[in-house]
Amino acid sequence: MLRDLFCVANFKMNKNRYETISYLKKLSILNKIKSKTNLIVCPPYTSLTESIKNISLGVQNINSNTNGAYTGEISAEMVCDFDVQYVILGHSERREFFNENDNEINKKIKIALKYNLKPILCVGENLNQRKNNQVLKILEQQLSISLDNIDIKSNIVIAYEPVWAIGTGETASTDLITETHNMIRKILNDIGFDGEKISILYGGSVNRNNAKDLIALKDVDGFLIGGASLDVNHFYDIFKYIEESV
Ligand code: PEP
Repeated sequence: MLRDLFCVANFKMNKNRYETISYLKKLSILNKIKSKTNLIVCPPYTSLTESIKNISLGVQNINSNTNGAYTGEISAEMVCDFDVQYVILGHSERREFFNENDNEINKKIKIALKYNLKPILCVGENLNQRKNNQVLKILEQQLSISLDNIDIKSNIVIAYEPVWAIGTGETASTDLITETHNMIRKILNDIGFDGEKISILYGGSVNRNNAKDLIALKDVDGFLIGGASLDVNHFYDIFKYIEESV
């Protein structure tokens, strides 16, 4: 296997501390052995815990500054008080509702790497951009700005998440995913990274009914999952499809 595999749960603003802890306990019972797939749960900050066997923790955002007068924000250093290894950056909901742009995301990637957090960088087009044949342009812009001045050997993961597929129940087709993941690998190569070595996850209405077909695609290295990750059995079923695909 050329690239690492990932199964990532994005809880968004769901689950309290008690619910998350009971979820993590159940998940660790289900996944007794050390898996080939990186199994990652990204709960809200208030649910962060100490490490749990065979599961990695991630967060859904960090601030781009080290510390200072940024009321309500959380820094990379603060999340490192817990056993956090990953951070989702550039999620389309942060771009849409919190006006995050690629320059800001670039600063966040830099600070994440400084604190040894592995960024899961989300990219993807909205429906208008796809209809207007702007996918290549949008992905080039998102990747080149977000990854500007980042060491090409950095430990980063890309999540391709077409905005129109997130939380809508409308999954992208296998052809579209293959084409777009290849496009992303080519852009990564063009900007100096080794696209063949960087894991690219798909995200957008993944569930236990479509996961098997999607993970069979050779350019898909795992999933970033929102809605279907909230139920631990559902999430684990998706994880098993990734494990079985190796
Ligand atoms: C996401 O939030 O990153 C996501 C892919 O959500 P969903 O699985 O619900 O489409």
